[in-house]
Amino acid sequence: MALIDYHYEMSHCHRCSYCKFIPFQLIKSKRFSYLCPSISLRNFHSFSAGGRAALGLAVVEGRLDEYTEMMKQIVFECTMCGACQVQCRTFNFNLNPIEVMQALRTHVVEQGEMMPEHMFVIEGLKREDNVFGEPKKHRGDWAEGLGLKDISREKVDVLLHVGCRMSFDDEFWPILKMAVEIMKNAGLSVGIAGAEESCCGGRALEMGFEGVFQNFAEAMAGRVKASGAKQVVTLCADCFGTFNEHYPAHGWGLDAEVVHITQFISNLISEGKLTLKNQVPMAVTYHDPCHLGRRGEPGVQWKGEYQRLGPHLFGPVPEKPIRLGQNGCYDAPREILEAIPGVELTEMERTREYSWCCGAGGGVLEAFEEMAEATASERIQEAEATGAKALVTACPWCERNFKDTLESTGGDMKIYDIVELVHQAIGG
Ligand code: SF4
Ligand code: SF4
Repeated sequence: MALIDYHYEMSHCHRCSYCKFIPFQLIKSKRFSYLCPSISLRNFHSFSAGGRAALGLAVVEGRLDEYTEMMKQIVFECTMCGACQVQCRTFNFNLNPIEVMQALRTHVVEQGEMMPEHMFVIEGLKREDNVFGEPKKHRGDWAEGLGLKDISREKVDVLLHVGCRMSFDDEFWPILKMAVEIMKNAGLSVGIAGAEESCCGGRALEMGFEGVFQNFAEAMAGRVKASGAKQVVTLCADCFGTFNEHYPAHGWGLDAEVVHITQFISNLISEGKLTLKNQVPMAVTYHDPCHLGRRGEPGVQWKGEYQRLGPHLFGPVPEKPIRLGQNGCYDAPREILEAIPGVELTEMERTREYSWCCGAGGGVLEAFEEMAEATASERIQEAEATGAKALVTACPWCERNFKDTLESTGGDMKIYDIVELVHQAIGG
């Protein structure tokens, strides 16, 4: 939908500011009561979902036609974490702030006002099919010698979609290999696209480049169909969220079930096909990646319009599906952690659909270093407050940003992908 199509929603933002905080009844401390990283850093209404709705309204009503640097900062200094959407909907205002902000970004880019820092990513995507602009022929290097099936030559049960971060950041290759070992031990025929794999397209969409996203979605849908896979498994929350939310919302479907590695492992445990026998003595807390949680909730394409329903009542016709972020993947990682002998899990104050973002998403990592670091630092401090010695997550983008932040700010918190703990527990 174009920005103008959100006129009703933008003009019905009540400026209530609920989207800035977790629900009042869940607040345990003032320190960890904020929900939106953007307003938390800048403390100025424009840097919130409500502020961006007001800005979008001014744009479509022709009251604002100059794209200043400050305006672009307001539009893009947001991780697209979706927390505002969950909170706004919680209070039944029936608005879609995350969709409004997505449409605003697309509109700004269509006016030729993109963030220069994002162009490196977009050019890399167009040239090499990955967000880093690395030579695509090296995309499958991590799998050398693992004996995985090549989906361009044979049909498979499971297609492992690796994603850009894990394919080209070799610090993650050992984690990928651990995941492959777990999957192969389950007796499944697992394949990869290797050098032919391409980005899921999610980063391009969230930077405002819808056309680039559509190309990648089409390529992914074709690849999955040709592979014959019944399941697409990924370790990357960003890819998971893109497949689950963005694809259906833009009319794309994959001919296979999309499964995050935590769901895959959790299923193996409950079916008795994976035994976690080794002690992993560790006090941990778990970080819900946004795109695995609230933004991993299945998306729906809505085609309709707002109509007068009564004397003072307007509403969407047909009804718009309400998405509160509760149907994301929250239980599987917790079930795994609870099944590992020795692991002691303590939750942070902001969890599940009210989780605080890691700071890496929506093009912030690429263009707004201060915000990416401040957001990760806030989460690490929240993790420290639980007494945990390790922060466990299930997304390479979160892990990368936490580790880079710790390197610059210092601190003793250990960061793990959940697969590493599973691997230790099975005796790997
Ligand atoms: S976006 Fe929603 S929660 Fe935020 S100020 Fe507007 S109405 Fe309130
Ligand atoms: S998507 Fe996240 S960072 Fe952006 S306005 Fe909403 S809560 Fe704030």
